[in-house]
Amino acid sequence: MQVKLARKLGFCGGVERAIESAQKALQAGNGPISSLGEIIHNRQVVERLAAAGLNVIDDPAAARGTVLIRSHGEGPEVLERLRQAGVQIIDATCVLVKRAQQIVAELARDGYRVVVIGQARHPEVQAVCGYAPGVVCVDRPEDLDQLPPGGKIGIICQTTHSPEHFGEMVGRIVARGYGEVKVVNTLCNEVAQRQAAAVELARQVEVMFVLGGRQSANTRELARLCGEHVPTHHLEGWEEFRPGMVAGKIAAGVTAGASTPRWIIEEFVDKLRVFDPSLEE
Ligand code: SF4
Repeated sequence: MQVKLARKLGFCGGVERAIESAQKALQAGNGPISSLGEIIHNRQVVERLAAAGLNVIDDPAAARGTVLIRSHGEGPEVLERLRQAGVQIIDATCVLVKRAQQIVAELARDGYRVVVIGQARHPEVQAVCGYAPGVVCVDRPEDLDQLPPGGKIGIICQTTHSPEHFGEMVGRIVARGYGEVKVVNTLCNEVAQRQAAAVELARQVEVMFVLGGRQSANTRELARLCGEHVPTHHLEGWEEFRPGMVAGKIAAGVTAGASTPRWIIEEFVDKLRVFDPSLEE
């Protein structure tokens, strides 16, 4: 098949730093090491690091030895529990997520009621919401009834959302007539660049493959955006590929989320390039 790659795809700086931190800690070999939650939303990477000795814990009470805070970050209460437990903390929170946490705290200090446009169950959003009291999390127009009727509103966004979604939600909030609305752009530029490159490619091909973990918010968003232009498949790797996905097609595009390692992309592209859809029909 003809296979084109998005000009920007795969691992972002924040994910690379988190994985490097884990690898360094594993090499140092100073007792048990675990990550609080899976280090990234990619099953294959989590499995490889688990084989090298990185445990995954979900409860800070289970922490022993060294605990790695993943790029999504943690809320202040969780960090305090870890400090009190006396474990060594390696903080791999992405600098952009840390910035969002600081902005939330500053907005609250300046008297704004903080609104986070994001998925309430996403770990980054859950952590960010911990940096101010009474944060309201909204992600769809029907969530807006949770907003206070008046007062000063300070808005930020989940880093992995698209600029279009952020802008649309801000517009809907402003339309509710608040006297003062402060908007701080906390979107991740790495994600925005991957989204723009994916859409550009989706317009040139007959089918898109978006590689990445099923739980990865930024990968799902890439798939959603590509799906607006061309039939799109969100796969975790080549093992999920089925010949019917490319039946009758010549040109395929490939992109990948910010937590998808290069080897998964290369394996997929190499196998798709030598795949002949006509032989399978
Ligand atoms: S996607 Fe952006 S915000 Fe998230 S970890 Fe990567 S660089 Fe940081």
